[in-house]
Amino acid sequence: MLLFTELSAVLPGILRQPAADATATVQHLLLDSRRVGVPAGTVFFALRGPHHDGHQYIPELYRRGVRLFVGEVLPPALLAACPEAGFIEVANSLNAIQSLAAAHRRAFTGPVWAVTGSNGKTIVKEWLAQLLSPDELICRSPRSYNSQVGVPLSVWELRPQHTLGIFEAGISEPGEMTRLAAVIQPTLGLFTNLGPAHDAGFASREQKATEKMQLFAGVETLVYCHDHAAVHAAAGQLPASVQRLTWSRHAALGAAVQVQLEPSADPGQTLAHVCYASEQHTFTLPFADEPSVENVLHCLVVLLWRGLVPAEIQRRLQRLHPVAMRLEMKQAIHDCYVLDDTYNNDLTGLDLALDALQRQPRRGRRTLILSDVLESGLPAAELYGRVAQLATQHGVQRLLAVGEAIGQHQALLSAGVADAQFFPDTESLLRWFHPDQFRQETILVKGARRFEFERVVAAFQQKIHGTVLEVNLDALVHNLNYYRARLQPGTRLMVMVKAFAYGSSSYEVANLLEFHRVDYLAVAYTDEGVQLRESGISLPVMVMNPSPDSFGLLRQYHLEPEIYSFARLREYLQAAAAGPLPAVHLKLDTGMHRLGFTETDLPELLALLRQHTTSLRVASVLTHLAGADEEQHNAFSHRQLAAFQRMAAEVEAGLGYAVIKHALNSPGIMRFPEAHYDMVRLGIGLYGVEAAGLDPAGLRPVSNLRTTVSQIKQLPAGETVGYGRRGEAADYPRRIATLAIGYADGYDRRFSRGVGEVLIRGRRAPLVGNVCMDMCMVDVTQIPEAQEGDAAVVFGEGLGLTELASRIGTIPYELLTSVSERVKRVFISE
Ligand SMILES: *Cc1c(COP(=O)(O)O)cnc(C)c1O
Repeated sequence: MLLFTELSAVLPGILRQPAADATATVQHLLLDSRRVGVPAGTVFFALRGPHHDGHQYIPELYRRGVRLFVGEVLPPALLAACPEAGFIEVANSLNAIQSLAAAHRRAFTGPVWAVTGSNGKTIVKEWLAQLLSPDELICRSPRSYNSQVGVPLSVWELRPQHTLGIFEAGISEPGEMTRLAAVIQPTLGLFTNLGPAHDAGFASREQKATEKMQLFAGVETLVYCHDHAAVHAAAGQLPASVQRLTWSRHAALGAAVQVQLEPSADPGQTLAHVCYASEQHTFTLPFADEPSVENVLHCLVVLLWRGLVPAEIQRRLQRLHPVAMRLEMKQAIHDCYVLDDTYNNDLTGLDLALDALQRQPRRGRRTLILSDVLESGLPAAELYGRVAQLATQHGVQRLLAVGEAIGQHQALLSAGVADAQFFPDTESLLRWFHPDQFRQETILVKGARRFEFERVVAAFQQKIHGTVLEVNLDALVHNLNYYRARLQPGTRLMVMVKAFAYGSSSYEVANLLEFHRVDYLAVAYTDEGVQLRESGISLPVMVMNPSPDSFGLLRQYHLEPEIYSFARLREYLQAAAAGPLPAVHLKLDTGMHRLGFTETDLPELLALLRQHTTSLRVASVLTHLAGADEEQHNAFSHRQLAAFQRMAAEVEAGLGYAVIKHALNSPGIMRFPEAHYDMVRLGIGLYGVEAAGLDPAGLRPVSNLRTTVSQIKQLPAGETVGYGRRGEAADYPRRIATLAIGYADGYDRRFSRGVGEVLIRGRRAPLVGNVCMDMCMVDVTQIPEAQEGDAAVVFGEGLGLTELASRIGTIPYELLTSVSERVKRVFISE
């Protein structure tokens, strides 16, 4: 193991302060200060990005036990404040971590494969690992850790015991790939395909291909599909020493592997007739969709090249399973949530999943259901020691462990987690399983494939009626960053999580926002703020309309009220006499005429505030525009903003100190960049609706409301459908599908009789008759392939909120916030 003191030579850098523990070794690399696993042996690399500066988190990490740091700017005061810590100063922290990973890679003598391309990288990497796991001990990138920072972290996990490394690499701008190539130093390369992803970062598709191909400048063998002309052209620029192993579906191209595809009698499979080294074989591929077939063919070519016999290849292909690319959080029995990660179970994957568990809002205990951990390359005792350590560090309170290997280390694990139970196999866990054993827990289910933990997840899932609101947390983060990118550095961001976070569930969203370090949250009522605090949210929270009888709760939970009238202010001052109260936000009415002090109120307001300067602090002043989203109101909006500036200046002068000034909601952020002031208030945009209509494609839809087809009926001509026979008779036979959603779920009754449409198998089906309380009917005559049990998208991908809202004369806000609480929420992230 590398000593911390030796690290300065590798990076290279200057040892500014030796660690108090001179024997400290470099074990774990940390880039994201929020992800401390085990502090001992962790080296934090402070990176500087456009929105964040890692150096700022050094003191906090020191408090949490981290003792080894690498950074670019290390003032003496910082070193003095962390006397036991070792510090190395480097010119560039990203270069430093990449050099360290590159040196680690050079010390590994086995083969290392690299996968790049626009799509399919993660799947091809995972499938190669599945296909080769009988022969190899493989170290691979966790999930899609393929970036400038993900790659060095992945490569760092290589150990001498591994017999093969498989890493994926992804880039978004020129110049990045040569850096990743230096870290991975691949011996074999696989280029999946070239599509539009990240086009924006490159001058042309050709430049992108050439750039990506840099990863393979030093490989011995390169695998790709000749049918992708741009990939083939870019491969032509590689040195002659690179052996090209190409495959193609067109004989004329002269690829080494010729492939002919044929549909199989089984609709889920495809037959591939493959000619390689003058021999002809037929394989059954266990997929029918085009991307999966291409991905599996890449893998098949690698297996042929490795010399596996066709019968063995076929056996292994048959066992391939789709890769779950995302982590899902599901509502489950007895108020529990299940974090479903039954995707693989290696040590890095476990670390990431535990991290996700820890980031969930607090709701009672944290439980881990874990199988044997595979492919660590570590001796078993060391491995399960690490597992126990990780579990403790991430606050796991109960462990249900499944498998023989893990069962042999009961003592180690029980020392880490007091409440630990062991089961020899999944079957015995399921026999023991009873819903009453779980209550208000967050449960991470993490198991290697062969333990089939999807059966455990199924046991936890409530018998829910078929309607689900899927909330895509990755899309939410995308939208957050979209708006952040529009703010000047230093402009603060308040996010509105009122009304159940616009229907998507407040704590999950608030929790994610806290993780992504927004500055403020806002809710409408005190109890919403209390709920956030009780689920562990510590961000500042503004309450827009607290009732006077809740002022005690504001104090107790550190919630900051909006004050908009003299009556409220006097009540608050009265309550403050009994003990200090949180700072307030003054609402100014500049033309909305809903809540707020007017310009003529200001002298009296300021006189009152001046009398209470010691007991009451003003945190901010705000106003709200009446027509921020519409061009036609621009002149009025500008008058509102001018009035706000005047009034805010008067307030500051009267108070004698500066306060945060904020005026804009989501469409306002887009349309009045000059009026962002000190803070903006993001609402609907976060949830995927660009209400200014300037860049509708810039945001990703966050919410998908879907339901299922309960029954399909074939109706003869002349029959009516539903209550009041409002689905009028047609003069032709119809197929009518009944869906498990109604107005009690929040599906608006105004969608009745052809106004609304849903998507079934990607096609639109119009409503027939009236929406009922728990059901509605749609016409699927034009969708003959529709079947009972099919999913129907009510809104989301392919059926936008803006369009649907306009059909019933409302706005997307209403559709989002109407989804009833009885509809289960499922949270999705990569
Ligand atoms: C809800 C709300 C917002 C956010 O508005 P969006 O249009 O959803 O971005 C901003 N400010 C106030 C005062 C609000 O009530």
